Formats: sequence, structure tokens, C-alpha cells
Amino acid sequence: MAAVFVLWTADSDRAVTDNALMQTYKRLPVAFERGAGAWLYDSSERAYLDALAGIAVCVLGHSHPAVTRAITAQAGRLIHTSNIYEIPAQTRLAERLCAVSGLDRVFFGNSGAEANEAAIKLARLHGHHRDIEKPAIVVMEGAFHGRTLATLTSTGNRRVQAGFEPLVSGFVRCPWNDPEALEHIARNNTSVAAVLLEPIQGEGGIRIPDPGYLAEVRRICDAHGWLMMLDEIQTGNGRTGEFFACQGAGVKPDVISVAKGLGNGIPIGACIAGGAAADLFQPGNHGSTFGGNPLSCTVGLAVLDVIEQEGLPAHAAVIGQRIVSGLRDATGDLECVRDVRGAGLMIGVELDRPCGALVEAALQRGLLINVTAESVIRLLPPLILTEDEADTIVERLTAAIREFAGHTG
Ligand code: PLP
Repeated sequence: MAAVFVLWTADSDRAVTDNALMQTYKRLPVAFERGAGAWLYDSSERAYLDALAGIAVCVLGHSHPAVTRAITAQAGRLIHTSNIYEIPAQTRLAERLCAVSGLDRVFFGNSGAEANEAAIKLARLHGHHRDIEKPAIVVMEGAFHGRTLATLTSTGNRRVQAGFEPLVSGFVRCPWNDPEALEHIARNNTSVAAVLLEPIQGEGGIRIPDPGYLAEVRRICDAHGWLMMLDEIQTGNGRTGEFFACQGAGVKPDVISVAKGLGNGIPIGACIAGGAAADLFQPGNHGSTFGGNPLSCTVGLAVLDVIEQEGLPAHAAVIGQRIVSGLRDATGDLECVRDVRGAGLMIGVELDRPCGALVEAALQRGLLINVTAESVIRLLPPLILTEDEADTIVERLTAAIREFAGHTG
């Protein structure tokens, strides 16, 4: 039997961690010990205002009592059984997601990528039902849909795909926010079965489409018998001012994928489908060992209760507008700030230069942010953010941007 050595000393803690982990992430030099609301604390009890919420995950903030109660009570009763048995909490959560989306049935997985994989499989089944031999899915430039092979193929970013060829076949790329380009594909490609897109591109740089774009996509899908599939993994769970961003656009898709905030940190993903798309999966078509277990679904129900009872989507709209106006006022004189935009608490500040260095500069000021698409500062704070906290984000971020602008000329 091979010997197992465990090296563990306080001093070598970080070095051991670095060596033992696959190097998929460049990590910031901080580890958090605890969280409360919109704040995280390191081992010396230094407080950081979390304007990222674990990348749109902790919608209720950290250590929310309703989430803690749901986890502890359910863990003490039953964590996991199997999808070969009835799971009442899963059924109840599915009913809630159907009610809020207006769709009909739900499949549960454990992540955003898995929710999108389910959507992609639905699109292929839909295509085969329409006698398309090799069904294709239209996906957008600048999109992000995950890191599994099919979802990284559907992602419109070469950096995510590089090295993983051969990619999955059956995807057609379309320019974002361009209904005419989509029409062009419709006229020239009879293999298309569905369109998959984000209502607002998150990783792509908080790119908000023109008003009417989603409605145009809906119209084109209807005209050609395509499924309209929305990836609401980042935009969903109340973040943009409605429970789903498509509701703000008055559009009902056939499929919605959701994850991130649904479990406030407990892994859960869901693919919600309506109409004929809801009946495409039959026993044996798809599955998941962990997906929809009693623990994650009980937590999902608790999260939905709080979002609903506290009116968090409407709150996100108001607080988000406060941050956007605050940042516009405070940075209006800075030439390097090209745009401040957002929907609810999904906010982007676009600079005229790469600004990855701002993440560490903000960290030093006790503010957690992220930079995406090289030059877009991304804010995805918890939806429970107070006005004071919103103002603190504006102050700390503005100070960091001013300092950065000074250094970078
Ligand atoms: N889709 C979107 C829009 C996302 O933002 C993400 C994650 O950032 C994903 C899919 C993938 O989700 P996960 O990392 O849970 O697989």
C-alpha cells in the first residue's frame, strides 16, 4: 500500500495548499474566516464589504439566519436519498420555480453548467422530434455558459475553449444583440433547433442588450419553431430587479437555466422548461446523483421565501440604481471611465484600459470586486445590501479607481 504523508504546519499552510491544488485559479492573498450579511472577515477580523457575493451566489448575504436554520434543521433530519425515490422538497421547489417563471417542469442538478447541459440536451431532443438529423443551437459571441465540454463550446470566449479541442459539434455562433444576424442564420441554416443566450451577458462584461432585443429573439424562435433558452444563472434569483431578467423585458422563454443564488452557497442548479419542452425528457434520458436532494431543495425553498417576503428584487432595483448614479456622479470627471451601467445589482463599470489590478487595490481598501472582459469592473453584491453599504461601495471603489487612473496615466 502506498504511504500517505500529510505535511501540516502553520507556516507551510499556504505553500502546501498551493502545491496540492490544480492551478485553475489565481487566488487573491486572503482567506475569510466568517461572514455576516454583506461583510466577510479574515483571520485578524478585518472586515471586507463583499460587492461580489461569491460571484452572484450569496444573494441573502453571509450566514443569513433563514439559510442557517434550513441547513441545520434539514441536515439533522435527512441530507440525501436518491432520485429513485420521491423527494417532497424537490417537488415543492419545482412548483415554486414554475410559479415564478410561468413554466411547467424542472430538472435539478448541482451547478450552472449542469443546468445548461440539461437545456442543451433538451434542444437536441427538440431537434430530433422535428426530424433534424444533427440539431444545432445558436449561441452568442461574448457568452459564458460554463466549463463542461458542451457549455465551454457554447461559451463565446476562445480563452475558455483553448486547449480543449475537439469541441462539441452542433453550435452556431451569432453576434450578440443583433436580431438581423439571427434572422440571417434562420434563413440559411435549417438545422437549428434552439437559441441559448444570457438576458444580460455577465462574464462578457455586463453587456445589456437593446430594449426589444429579447422580444425579437422570441419572435424569431416562434417563427422557426426554435426553443428560446435563457441562461439566467447570473441574472436570476432577483438580481436584476425582477426574479428573472426576462420578466423585465416582458418575454417568456421556453427554457430557463438558474443556479448560483438559488442555494445561497449550497450547490444547486435547475433547468426549467415550459410547453412541449417540459415533456421532452423521459425516464432514462437524463439524471443526477446529487441533483435536487432534500438538503439543497430545502435551502432553495428558504432562499425563495426570503427573496419573496422581503421583496428583494424590487430592493435590488432601488439599491442598484443608487450605486449606478453614485458611481456616475463620483467618477464623471474621470476620462478613463467609459460607462457605468447595470440592471438592479448587476453592475459594470467599463474603463478604457485593462484594469485587473483594481481587484487587489479594492481588496486593500476592504472591498471585494471582480474584473471581467479585461476592462469591466463587475459588482454583484448581495441583494440585502443597505443604502449605507451601497454608499460605501461607491466611496471605496471610486477611491480605488482614482488611484488606479493616477498610476496608469
Ligand atoms: N452561465 C452563466 C451566465 C454564468 O455566469 C455561470 C457562472 O459564472 C455559469 C453559466 C456556470 O455556472 P457554474 O459555475 O455553477 O457551473
